[in-house]
Formats: sequence, structure tokens, C-alpha cells
Amino acid sequence: MNKPPLTLYLAAPRGFCAGVDRAIKIVEMAIEKWGAPVYVRHEIVHNKFVVDSLRDLGAVFVEELDECPDDRPVIFSAHGVPKAVPAAAAKREMIYVDATCPLVSKVHIEAQRHADNGLQMIMIGHAGHPETVGTMGQLPDGEVLLVETVEDVATVQVRDPEQLAFVTQTTLSVDDTIDIVAALNARFPKIVGPHKEDICYATTNRQESVKAIAPKCDAILVVGAPNSSNSKRLVEVGARAGCAYSQLVQRATDIDWRALDGIKTMGITAGASAPEVLINEVIDAFRDKYDVTVELVETAKENVEFKVPRVLREPA
Ligand code: SF4
Repeated sequence: MNKPPLTLYLAAPRGFCAGVDRAIKIVEMAIEKWGAPVYVRHEIVHNKFVVDSLRDLGAVFVEELDECPDDRPVIFSAHGVPKAVPAAAAKREMIYVDATCPLVSKVHIEAQRHADNGLQMIMIGHAGHPETVGTMGQLPDGEVLLVETVEDVATVQVRDPEQLAFVTQTTLSVDDTIDIVAALNARFPKIVGPHKEDICYATTNRQESVKAIAPKCDAILVVGAPNSSNSKRLVEVGARAGCAYSQLVQRATDIDWRALDGIKTMGITAGASAPEVLINEVIDAFRDKYDVTVELVETAKENVEFKVPRVLREPA
């Protein structure tokens, strides 16, 4: 049977970032060092395939620290945790390893530094996302004000408009955040913030690469999880950059083939917590149905690598 031709634009960079890579290594090395089970507070990264693979090695995923026994090691996820969490683990004399991405830790340090300088903090982020909860939890309850939209900026109640600073979640939409930061600067001209925002290199690069492929594509699939903030942003960026059909899929079985009927060009990318094996699975599914020509569209090169904590580099 003759398969219809399909040009598949493969975005690069895509998939795993340095923070995700490090967090997964931390769990693997902890199991190697201390044996199973090793407890992990929250999904180490937002990807079911990754979580299931680590569970097979002996990781036990829980949502809260009080679900962990005192005598087993616990790892905190890449998204970061409120200060109260490591404090509670230390009080219980547990072994704990913090897999918070260093770029999230950098935001935690910024928030603390501004508070030490007497500034009230505003966080631009998504309510309830573990990274937002972790960053807001660096300061006492109620000290950090959350804004999610430009509209929120108009109504946020601050102590003193002259004594303010802001930080952002690392996985936001770059374009939306520019607008929110502009609204903050317009309402509070003295507000102190990072040079641009705290959005990380991986989020920025993945959004740029989707923008590059979107105008050429009849459809875009983003491989990623529904609870992955950066993956959901990629879907939005793809749609806004001119692709009529931009969808999230966790794996090849999620592809809605009927919706793709008649396409000639396809874009594929993946969120920072999606492994390459799932991207290849999706590409293979297209090869089964189409005569595929893959074109790599590379908009940046990445060579970022983060070291695992020293405790895992030392012998047991
Ligand atoms: S997306 Fe960015 S902040 Fe999040 S783990 Fe990856 S590098 Fe770190």
C-alpha cells in the first residue's frame, strides 16, 4: 500500500532538560546507594513513564513527607519544596536528598534575599503548581503574593508600592510573562525584579523552537504530561504561532488520527520532562501510516549539565 507523504518537522531543543536529567539520576543513584525503597515526595518530574520506570527500580512516590517512614531516604522533586519540608525531615533525622533544579533554587534564594532587604514579594506563577507552592513556601505564610495574569496585577493589594520585588515560575510562557512584568512595572515603577524574568533556558529554548516550526505545520504534537507546566505552554505557543491544531499527547496511543486526516506537514516537540523514547514512539507511529521525511529544526544548542549532590557521589 502506498503511504501518503508527510514532512515531519522535529523541533530542537526538545525533551529532557538538565534539571530533569539530574533529578532522575538522583533517584537512580539513591536507590543504588541505599537500596529500595527510596521515597520520593511528589512525582520526581511530571511524566508518568519516568515515574513508572523509577517505581520499577524501587522508588515509592508519596505526596507528603508524613507518608514516609523515618528510616528510609526521601527525595524532594525537581519542582522544589517549601522550607518547612526539609526542616521537618531534619527534625525526624531522616536522610533526605533535594532534587530541586538548581535554577528553581536560584529563584528561592532571590526571594529570600529580597525579603531580607525588607521587600514584599510578588510571584508570577500558576496557583497550586508544586514549583509555585515551593517558591512561595520559602517565606512565611502570606508573605508572597501570587499573580497569574495581567488582570491580577490590577487588583493585587500590597503593603507598600515602593517596597516590592517579584520572581517568576521557571516554566511560564515567555510572551505572557513579558506582559505581566510590564503591568507590574507600570503599576509599581519601583518594583525590583530579575533582569528579564526567571524563566529557565530550557523553557525559553523549547518555546522558541516551537515558534520556528509552527507556521510550517498543519498540526503540532507536544509529547508531555497534562500536569507538566512547560509542556502545556508549548501547546499554547504552537497555536499562537500559527498552527491550527496544537495538541498534547503522553504517548503514541493518544494520537487522534481522525483529527490529523489530510495533513501534509507535522511538527513534533516535547516538554522538558518527556523522555526521547516517547518522542521516538510517536515518530514511529507516523512512519507506520505515512511516508515520513524528518526535518530537524534546531534553534539553539544546549550543553547545560548539573551535578548531583555530593552525598550521592560519596561511597555509602
Ligand atoms: S524546566 Fe528549567 S527549571 Fe525546570 S527542571 Fe528543567 S531546567 Fe530546571
